[in-house]
Amino acid sequence: MAKELNFKQDLTACYGQPVAENPTQVMIEAAYRHHGLDWRYLTIEVAPQDLRDAVRGARAMGFRGFNCTIPHKVAVIEHLDGLGESASLMGAVNCVVRRGDQLIGENTDGKGFVKSLRELVDPTGKHVVMFGAGGAARAIGVEVALAGATKITLINRSATRGEQLAQLLADRVKVDVKFVRWDQTYKIPEDADILINATSIGLYPDVTARLNFDVNTLRPGMVVADVIPNPPRTLLVQDAIARQCKVIDGLGMLVNQGIIGVEYWTAATTGTQISPDASVMRKALEDVFRE
Ligand code: NDP
Repeated sequence: MAKELNFKQDLTACYGQPVAENPTQVMIEAAYRHHGLDWRYLTIEVAPQDLRDAVRGARAMGFRGFNCTIPHKVAVIEHLDGLGESASLMGAVNCVVRRGDQLIGENTDGKGFVKSLRELVDPTGKHVVMFGAGGAARAIGVEVALAGATKITLINRSATRGEQLAQLLADRVKVDVKFVRWDQTYKIPEDADILINATSIGLYPDVTARLNFDVNTLRPGMVVADVIPNPPRTLLVQDAIARQCKVIDGLGMLVNQGIIGVEYWTAATTGTQISPDASVMRKALEDVFRE
């Protein structure tokens, strides 16, 4: 008797431009293989003017969902059927999920970051000092405040972006927030518990770029987190390790936001949520970044 054959795999993807250096595919497909899911994750270059058609294509081809990265995180919203709570608060989507016949925008960046943070420290009542006010900073700022941080000091080069994010955090997540214009060497306040780099400083190929702050104001035991995934061992990570800080690198956030994405996609598709193994995903990324 002939056995049943199935050559149709479930599709997920990442839309971005540029996107070729984005390593998400490697970790997500490692998770699919490890958990026996006959799914694929495609890395797809989508230009801004083609985003509408790309989303229509995802609908037409039955994609289970897709990630959005630069420059689509805000622009994708008008092409979707609805937003989850975090995405709505942040006004940005990095993970689209097919729920029934609807495409719903979620934001897992900040949730992934907080999942990594909780492995080292409970954010409740903490003073967070964060460099940056772009998309990553917005996602992290909202989620650390929702997770219980009581004070956020934002440091950003552009005052307009910094003030906008400070306003959003004060209005929508009711945290005590202070904005500092980044026009000189910054000294970390003595009561800071957690320091975060949410800028793109240090991202490949500018790996020798340093954040303009006084490294002597890093204290042993302070939690220092960097969002830069490539390379994972940034100069900030190296400085923080040398000063006995507790360190979270950009792979932690990348893996954890990926885990949440797979949970959303599998729960919506099969009704049974699969929580992929973080160590399998991290190992896949480390293999890629090993020099
Ligand atoms: P955006 O372009 O939205 O924001 C970039 C931020 O970096 C802004 O605050 C910008 O300041 C600041 N910045 C850039 N260059 C400089 C500089 N030379 N001096 C001072 N400030 C600078 O990018 P995103 O927020 O989307 O992404 C930021 C980083 O986060 C990227 O490197 C990305 O790879 C990483 N990321 C990592 C994730 C992970 O899972 N690990 C997930 C998402 C993002 P200004 O406003 O003044 O321009």
